[in-house]
Amino acid sequence: MKNKVCELFQIKYPLIQAGMIWCSGWELASAVSNAGGLGIIGSGSMYPEILDEHIQKCKAATNQPFAVNLPMLYPNIEEHIQTIIKHQVPIVFTSAGNPKTYTARLKEHGITVVHVVSSVKFAKKAEEAGVDAIVAEGFEAGGHNGRDETTTFCLIPMVREAISSPLIAAGGIGTGRGMLAALTLGADAVQIGSRFIATPESSAHQQFKDTILNSEEGDTMLTLKELTPVRLMKNAFYKQVEKAYEDGATKEDLNTLLGRGRAKKGMFEGDLVEGELEVGQIAGLIHEIKPAAAIVDEIITEFKAAIEERNAAKYTF
Ligand code: NDP
Ligand code: NDP
Repeated sequence: MKNKVCELFQIKYPLIQAGMIWCSGWELASAVSNAGGLGIIGSGSMYPEILDEHIQKCKAATNQPFAVNLPMLYPNIEEHIQTIIKHQVPIVFTSAGNPKTYTARLKEHGITVVHVVSSVKFAKKAEEAGVDAIVAEGFEAGGHNGRDETTTFCLIPMVREAISSPLIAAGGIGTGRGMLAALTLGADAVQIGSRFIATPESSAHQQFKDTILNSEEGDTMLTLKELTPVRLMKNAFYKQVEKAYEDGATKEDLNTLLGRGRAKKGMFEGDLVEGELEVGQIAGLIHEIKPAAAIVDEIITEFKAAIEERNAAKYTF
């Protein structure tokens, strides 16, 4: 395929695998890049030396472009930036912070910079900051999320109207039909997270992968808006949070309940009771663990078939 985003990243398909803490290390990122999409290493869960190792392994496993996701909330961000520059990572996706802070510096080193937003206002700010492309992520998405609950279906056309930069849609997309819908709404590419957790290459724990396969519509919920809004699977830990709300928990109580390392516990160590499981609404549509390359293939095949189907449809006006 040829389009703005394929040209910008030098990739075959406008399909990006989201950077996901504890789930997307070098193995997943390189597999997606080798399959013609753009793979992203999620650096938010990695200590600096771990990111260094993952970038080196990713470079050894693929000669295609790949990216690193840099959540700006990350405590040792300066060390991550130096590692990224040292290894000449071609593309960085920044998220959860102000795009003005690092865009110019990364671009000075020849790095393509993309910023993730959840609203029109932040999309405009990201464009003003000089990023090369914008990811607009809707309410359906897993993990950290916007506060306004704007769904992908509403967000993408509104962001499209407001900016002229290449636009990548995220949140609720996991199939070729979803990809066509997002492109029809005005996006130039899609970013897909949850679907890629259910792969052998993802570093998510098998118990977390199985939980996704067994989940249904309505099994995730956006919560903890007072802290950082996050979409979670409704497991035992989520139920503790729900109970705390019912008991009138303050922000401080919620912070104490969350504690530290819940995401690692749930997603990486497979503790389905005490851990936090970050996944999007699309989980209910994921029924099988498949290699990342097979998923890329399947999505692109379905995307093409959906275009054919739409072209063949007989509408009466
Ligand atoms: P890898 O190159 O995959 O991992 C190298 C290091 O990175 C390890 O220290 C590992 O953690 C860490 N790591 C891997 N993925 C992530 C991630 N997404 N976020 C943060 N840190 C990460 O080689 P290994 O031989 O260590 O691992 C082989 C596979 O097994 C990998 O997919 C790995 O993620 C998984 N694994 C799962 C574990 C678990 O479920 N408890 C434990 C170890 C590995 P660490 O130092 O904790 O091993
Ligand atoms: P917590 O504060 O609960 O825990 C920190 C976790 O990150 C621990 O598991 C710790 O591993 C690991 N970690 C890696 N590097 C560091 C470091 N330099 N200092 C301290 N801890 C480190 O945070 P979360 O697990 O909720 O989030 C971790 C990061 O991921 C944050 O930067 C957050 O912004 C980002 N994030 C991004 C999301 C997204 O959707 N983009 C979603 C959720 C979080 P260990 O236990 O081995 O010490």
